[in-house]
Amino acid sequence: MGQDQTKQQIEKGLSLYQSNQTQQALVVWVKVLAKTTDPGGRFRVLGCLITAHSEMGIYKEMLKYALAQIDTAREMEDPDCLAEGYLNLARSHEKLCDFQKTISYCKTCLTMQGTTVSLQLNGQVCLSMGNAFLGLSIFQKALESYEKALHFAHNNDDKMLECRVCCSLGNFYVLLKDYEKALFFPCKAAELVNDYGKGWSLKYRAMSQYHMAVAYRKLERLPDAMECCEESMKIAMQHGDRPLQALCLHNFADIHRCRNDVEKAFPRYESSMCIMTEIGNRLGQASIYLGVGKCWLQQKELDKALDSLQRAQEVAGGTGNKLISLNVHCLSERIFRIQEKHEELREQVVKFLQCVEELELYCALCGESIGEKNQQLQAMPCSHIFHLKCLQSSGTKGCSKCCRSSMKPGFV
Ligand SMILES: [Zn+2]
Ligand SMILES: [Zn+2]
Repeated sequence: MGQDQTKQQIEKGLSLYQSNQTQQALVVWVKVLAKTTDPGGRFRVLGCLITAHSEMGIYKEMLKYALAQIDTAREMEDPDCLAEGYLNLARSHEKLCDFQKTISYCKTCLTMQGTTVSLQLNGQVCLSMGNAFLGLSIFQKALESYEKALHFAHNNDDKMLECRVCCSLGNFYVLLKDYEKALFFPCKAAELVNDYGKGWSLKYRAMSQYHMAVAYRKLERLPDAMECCEESMKIAMQHGDRPLQALCLHNFADIHRCRNDVEKAFPRYESSMCIMTEIGNRLGQASIYLGVGKCWLQQKELDKALDSLQRAQEVAGGTGNKLISLNVHCLSERIFRIQEKHEELREQVVKFLQCVEELELYCALCGESIGEKNQQLQAMPCSHIFHLKCLQSSGTKGCSKCCRSSMKPGFV
């Protein structure tokens, strides 16, 4: 299969894919991959296969194709293609919750001496790196990476990237419990979709709606949360987007839990868990165990709650995520207090404080915790995070954590 025919067949696959005939598109692309003699075409078709498998949540295949893309790029001796291959490799590891590997491949990408084309990838590399740091609960570095990604998005006028970074920032502020910002960023993403997204895939709309739904739930605006989540789920179903379906089901379960309706919450956690397990999203699994634990706690089934928390801890530990461990210790502490098991209680308090220390989840101005309750936060240009009220009342220009001073206001 020569260059022209390869190009034609890739296009044929793309139009099938865009009309949601994913399986047919895959058949066409796999055939091109086997038959083409054109390395450039081979590289492109691998890119299509990577995107499709990422959206279906088949991350092991995605990883396989990313490795093949790197081999092809080496054969072509094209530095731009090589950088793109490494970005895809980093992303595959991000999806599989191998965050250390993600960070290391992102760094490889950033140090590559590419041309202007590969420089345009840098924003996406920073986004992936931010997601990996967030997965490891390294908040300052995550925020620093997201700010860089936003910077690239603005410089390249890349609205799709900006939209994706806004969604990630939404997630970031959900985890640190600044729910005002947690809602602000996905709303901004939704605005971008409305203003520029006519030609974009609907997945961007679905993604922003999902992140809005999570923020609304945290703000206890449950009908709004339900509405956004339903919208997101609808698109995820149409597109066969398994990863997003899992996230939506998880959020539906959480909404029902907030309404004290555990009868409805449990089956949704279960459905979400099936998909999370199938696609290999371990962080998602840990987070579900946490939700299930909270349900059992509501039901005063303390042993079952502890069992679920234990599982959350095990799964999260394997990914290097510390924030879930922190939550587990906090909830276990409550349970042992009810059970009046003083020794176990003390152990959990110590572990909890260790986590807080490791994650630096305190404001360097007042010394109080960050991420314990809904509070407005503000980052300095160095990406260190403080309570908004503390920054406003201190009037200092420099950061009291790293002593770097700057007049430049941060993006986020
Ligand atoms: Zn403070
Ligand atoms: Zn600082």
